[in-house]
Amino acid sequence: MFLTNLFNLRKACSHDSITPDMESGYCPDCGKFIKNEWYITRCTCCGVKLKSVVIKGEVQPLHNYCSNCGGEEYSVEKLSKINFIDINFAVLQKKEIENGVKPSDSTICWQERTASQPKLLVQYL
Ligand SMILES: [Zn+2]
Ligand SMILES: [Zn+2]
Repeated sequence: MFLTNLFNLRKACSHDSITPDMESGYCPDCGKFIKNEWYITRCTCCGVKLKSVVIKGEVQPLHNYCSNCGGEEYSVEKLSKINFIDINFAVLQKKEIENGVKPSDSTICWQERTASQPKLLVQYL
């Protein structure tokens, strides 16, 4: 429970110093490495881009139905770079990257050091 609470507290930072024109950087308010990620939604029926919003942490279209074909299905696409056309549709997610925990490294640790779990926990935190 304690860990969960701590996590929630940390999540409260909105990383305002990481502006949308940046690609990534360390947030001076919470010290986390923040990566700006842009997403758009697209109608799976006709393929037009839909104006996107984030609701409860999930990227989704602003409107329920496609304004072009009336379709309800959509797909979410991550943009590698934002441009001036997409910015009208896209939505920005600020993603926290855990310091020093690279996915490949941590996999090796888990496999090799199963006998010393406390150490692993310290590393992870
Ligand atoms: Zn922050
Ligand atoms: Zn459509």
